[in-house]
Amino acid sequence: MTAGNEKTESVVVVGGGVIGLASAYYLAKSGRKVTVIERDPSLLSGGSAGNAGMVVPSHFIPLAAPGVIGQGLRWMLDPKGPFFLRPRIDIDLARWIWIFFRHANAKHVAASEKLLCDLSLQSHRLHQELSKGEGYTLTERGLLMLCQSEKGLEEETEVVEAAHRLGLEAELFDKERLREFEPDAEVAAAGGVWWKQDCHLTPLDFTNALRKGISRDGGTFVEDDAVDFIREGKEVIGVKTAAGDSIEGDRIVLAGGIATIKLARKLGLRMPMQGGKGYSFTLPKPRKSLRLCSLLKEGRVAVTPMGDSLRVAGTMEICGSDTSVSPKRLEGVVENFCRFYPDFTKADFEGIEPWVGLRPCSPDGLPYLGHVPGQRRVIAATGHVMMGLSLAPATGWLVEKLVSGEVSPIGLSQLDPGRFG
Ligand SMILES: Cc1cc2nc3c(=O)[nH]c(=O)nc-3n(C[C@H](O)[C@H](O)[C@H](O)COP(=O)(O)OP(=O)(O)OC[C@H]3O[C@@H](n4cnc5c(N)ncnc54)[C@H](O)[C@@H]3O)c2cc1C
Repeated sequence: MTAGNEKTESVVVVGGGVIGLASAYYLAKSGRKVTVIERDPSLLSGGSAGNAGMVVPSHFIPLAAPGVIGQGLRWMLDPKGPFFLRPRIDIDLARWIWIFFRHANAKHVAASEKLLCDLSLQSHRLHQELSKGEGYTLTERGLLMLCQSEKGLEEETEVVEAAHRLGLEAELFDKERLREFEPDAEVAAAGGVWWKQDCHLTPLDFTNALRKGISRDGGTFVEDDAVDFIREGKEVIGVKTAAGDSIEGDRIVLAGGIATIKLARKLGLRMPMQGGKGYSFTLPKPRKSLRLCSLLKEGRVAVTPMGDSLRVAGTMEICGSDTSVSPKRLEGVVENFCRFYPDFTKADFEGIEPWVGLRPCSPDGLPYLGHVPGQRRVIAATGHVMMGLSLAPATGWLVEKLVSGEVSPIGLSQLDPGRFG
């Protein structure tokens, strides 16, 4: 930001999902003149509205991890399975898979877990601060990782050991203790892990609170599609929209989720990403109310109480940016949920429209956060895979630091948007 009589620095943020809004929030709060360009303010077409609403310091292991490939291949044989990669001839997909394979190992996990943990804990602190200051509810009761099988429990025990080494709070529990967590509902699990620092919220309450804060601090919103850049020589000085407007800014933040790839390409940046398609159902009046959010280990389903309603989310289909719905996989989500929570039946889901969203999946499972190579005015903030809502506050806070030119308190070199050339 400039001082004295000099003009206020202006920032154009492309994308009004959780990452764009959190970036705009911290930029507006620091006195910048912020414009957010979002083509769909309902947010129904991105990943931000219908997600499971979990804030997850427990997720310190990136998607690219040992064992994921074998497990994924086994799940692909099941039409109702929680993971699918639609085989197709596509050079971008081939490159993404190649990079994913290169990172799905213990060395990559060891190199990433501290960074993800630091980002998550900072984001958790900021969520606590924001929820109080901006008025959304953060339910801080922890998250239950529920396991039905011995194998599942053994795997999670190893994760807990790694978590304790990082200083995270996690407790293994058995069936008896589970009844204390959920006294009013039957839960069919042998035990699991209570992740004490995890919490949950209602995603649209969070995005609405951010929008309110941005407006209060002088930010504005444009409903349009950013399609290209305005350049002065090699320097990017703004964004052109589909409606034909030119919106200039001293800085540009690219935070359009999976769609960021398209704009980044116009700057010569190949930022590999695939959409990780997922679905959610929101039961407005669930027959049982649950106290804690949970992840169902063997079913890969996320369950979150949101006010009086209950959201059930699942599947990861690596699909480019295809948002078509697979009825079989929807059935899989419902069946897995009912298997863990037998008070519920398929009939509870009749007439409930599923929501479809795309997670912006980088091939190493780490976000892209930093300057676009060769563009001192342009910052990319995307690729948060299944942690965008969780990491949004920390990302926005770091975007503001990047714009300020401050040294980031968290090392960002591993998140360089140009790391794959
Ligand atoms: C089923 C499911 C459950 C999930 N559960 C969780 C969870 O519990 N916790 C968690 O942390 N994460 C969760 N996620 C992941 C999370 O939703 C994503 O990581 C997050 O939405 C990414 O945020 P984003 O702002 O980068 O992208 P998006 O949410 O996709 O937002 C990008 C926005 O930019 C807009 N846009 C893009 N390009 C342009 C353009 N050129 N011009 C104008 N507008 C543009 C889009 O319309 C969109 O609204 C879940 C995802 C799914 C699918």
